Amino acid sequence: MQKTILITGSSRGIGASTARLAALQGYQVMVNYITNQQAALKIVDDINQNGGKASCQQADVSSESDVVALFQTIDRQLGPLTALVNNAGILEHQMRVEQMDVERWQRVLASNVLSCFLCSREAIHRMSQKRGGAGGSIVNVSSIAARTGSPGEYVDYAASKGAVDAFTLGLAKEVADEGIRVNAVRPGFIYTDIHASGGEPNRVDRLKDSLPMKRGGTPDEVAHAILWLLSDEASYCTGTFLDLTGGR
Ligand code: NAP
Repeated sequence: MQKTILITGSSRGIGASTARLAALQGYQVMVNYITNQQAALKIVDDINQNGGKASCQQADVSSESDVVALFQTIDRQLGPLTALVNNAGILEHQMRVEQMDVERWQRVLASNVLSCFLCSREAIHRMSQKRGGAGGSIVNVSSIAARTGSPGEYVDYAASKGAVDAFTLGLAKEVADEGIRVNAVRPGFIYTDIHASGGEPNRVDRLKDSLPMKRGGTPDEVAHAILWLLSDEASYCTGTFLDLTGGR
């Protein structure tokens, strides 16, 4: 059966690595981005030039109408979705909770939590064996921040990832007998642009020596874990979490 995957936020970072690896493993790939069309097109070109099949679509995955349109495009261009990676996420500048405003909380919760709800709902409509689908697999990209709480930096972000963890557990049980597995990865300090959004581009290098492995992780290391959880090799895993933290 043809494997088709949507990776939200796959123009850069962990999502981009996951898109490239998924293509190498035989998936048709829908690359999604919010603003950075050039980066998304580069991923798509690279995949297609290496004999894979990929397309990209702009969609703000915290917007219901954008998500519905994104899934309709996948239906038309690639066919039945078999895998979803809820990867898109943001963090904002480091500060204490007492300094944060409500607009920031709304952005963080919409981008990190609502996006998972919306994309998972659309995926279940297509994958569920109770709805005539062929089953499928979902991986949510949470964070080790759900365990540590990120005090003094971004407690709101950490709380949003705590919500992703609870969603992963509940949804996994809800759809377990409909042919859908739902799991999550919890990365630690990974070298991507996200730390610049938090106001500290060199955050991983500052903190790496505090880790048992004394180094940050790469997006490819996270991508391999995501692809394993999606694969048939993980066929008895649902509602599980893989921490990628260098031992933290
Ligand atoms: P990144 O390098 O900043 O990339 C973020 C990606 O998400 C980009 O492709 C961006 O698109 C897209 N995006 C953001 N908001 C979106 C929205 N509303 N709709 C659609 N796309 C959106 O981030 P990353 O470090 O790879 O992070 C990926 C995931 O891993 C996130 O959920 C993050 O919380 C999680 N994570 C990362 C780390 C880490 O250390 N890097 C650790 C733990 C967890 P554009 O290119 O168009 O802006």
